[in-house]
Amino acid sequence: MTNENTAELTGFAKLGISGQLLRATVIAGFDTPKPVQEKAIPPYLAGRDILAVAQTGSGKTAAFSLPILTKIVALGNKRTPKTARALILAPTRELAVQIEDTIRVLAKGLHISTALVLGGVSRFSQVKKIAPGVDILVATPGRLTDLVREGDLNLSETRWLVLDEADRMLDMGFINDVRRIAKAVHRDKQTALFSATMPDEIEQLARGIMKDPVHVEVAPQGTTAAEIKQGVVMARTRQKRQVLSAMLADEAMKSVIVFSRTKHGADRVVRDLERDGFNAAVIHGNKSQNARQKALNGFRDGSVRILVATDIAARGIDVPGISHVVNFDLPDEAESYVHRIGRTGRNGMDGIAITLCDPSENAKLRAVERVIRMKLPITVDHTGQPDPARNPAESRERAAEEARDRAGDHRDRGPGGNRKPRQGFGHKQHAGKPEGGRPEGGRPHAGKPSGGKPFRGKRRSFGSGGKPARAA
Ligand code: AMP
Repeated sequence: MTNENTAELTGFAKLGISGQLLRATVIAGFDTPKPVQEKAIPPYLAGRDILAVAQTGSGKTAAFSLPILTKIVALGNKRTPKTARALILAPTRELAVQIEDTIRVLAKGLHISTALVLGGVSRFSQVKKIAPGVDILVATPGRLTDLVREGDLNLSETRWLVLDEADRMLDMGFINDVRRIAKAVHRDKQTALFSATMPDEIEQLARGIMKDPVHVEVAPQGTTAAEIKQGVVMARTRQKRQVLSAMLADEAMKSVIVFSRTKHGADRVVRDLERDGFNAAVIHGNKSQNARQKALNGFRDGSVRILVATDIAARGIDVPGISHVVNFDLPDEAESYVHRIGRTGRNGMDGIAITLCDPSENAKLRAVERVIRMKLPITVDHTGQPDPARNPAESRERAAEEARDRAGDHRDRGPGGNRKPRQGFGHKQHAGKPEGGRPEGGRPHAGKPSGGKPFRGKRRSFGSGGKPARAA
């Protein structure tokens, strides 16, 4: 059987993928198209805009990459200096790196150039890479905006725009950057927007930048993968460490992500786990890109069994074979629960998601249940038991950290997330609402607006110098 024949068996041929790209799907091990690929590839190849509700793990990267690669290959080699023919925007560096990796695998042998534009790493090498022009640029919005403003990148030739994990870009305060970027690309662009949830702001964004998009939905919005078994363990905050360590003593928990709402919390959890004899790594926004990548690589190659992460740092990361997700605390945004537990139960494998819930987090738990439209079973309740005896020094340390968490908002907001707020910047509707206004009694941030959303330090306009000329 020839390669081509083998490739046709993948079913991607039926979707309109051919030649070397079809072979690449075989090499990548993609035997059968996933639902999002079946639904999105044919209309995207036909030139339609795509508005897709799809989670990480659904196969969305290939769903947009295969058609873009097909189109770029068909047009041949036509790079213009300082331009990108296709632009893929992702909320985090990790996701951007992962997308570029996938594209490189699929584009092997096609003479397609790709580049990454990310915050937190050398700008110089990125500018150098895009100077001759690239076929596909994968970028996070902040650094991309800087390059466009400085005139190092011109988006007027960009015909394909992908917004990946759009709801996360909204959460991270990138929405206005995204709008400006969408305006700067070619007027006749083809846009694909992927989002795990579809809040009003994303629908509005889509209406503003897309033309009559084809709607693709692979799992009803806000639902969680059926393969994931979910349960709640009621435990007082002070009991959580002990409960977690006891759980992790079970070796059936082969590869575990533990989510923490705050960066301090994540550091504390990893420190406690290490004290309890576990080998764990941590990723959050205060860690350097190198440290994050190192932690992620260790987790990926299995040398680290437990990865502790904040919501932002873990966005979009695709590590196959995660057996368990543990929510050390409930997320502030109920939708984050869907993202968190979506790290497990991938590719049809079983996954288990366990949420540790202090009684003060009950309202957050209810909010999660409303989003996922199901009641989560309480599998164990430790709250009737006395608090574990604590070492007084450790208690003081923990109390001080908890006070710091309460006094300032230490949620991980990702790149740029700790910059100073800017007045009058239109964020997600609830961004200015005082946290105290939420129905729950869980950890208010001293009356500070939960405007916990990230801010851009100064007005980001591409300015006259950097504004690319629009093609007529
Ligand atoms: P994504 O949602 O794009 O992050 O993809 C999730 C995972 O599914 C990645 O590890 C992909 O390599 C894998 N994948 C994507 N498409 C297919 C397919 N058709 N068959 C098998 N695996 C796939």
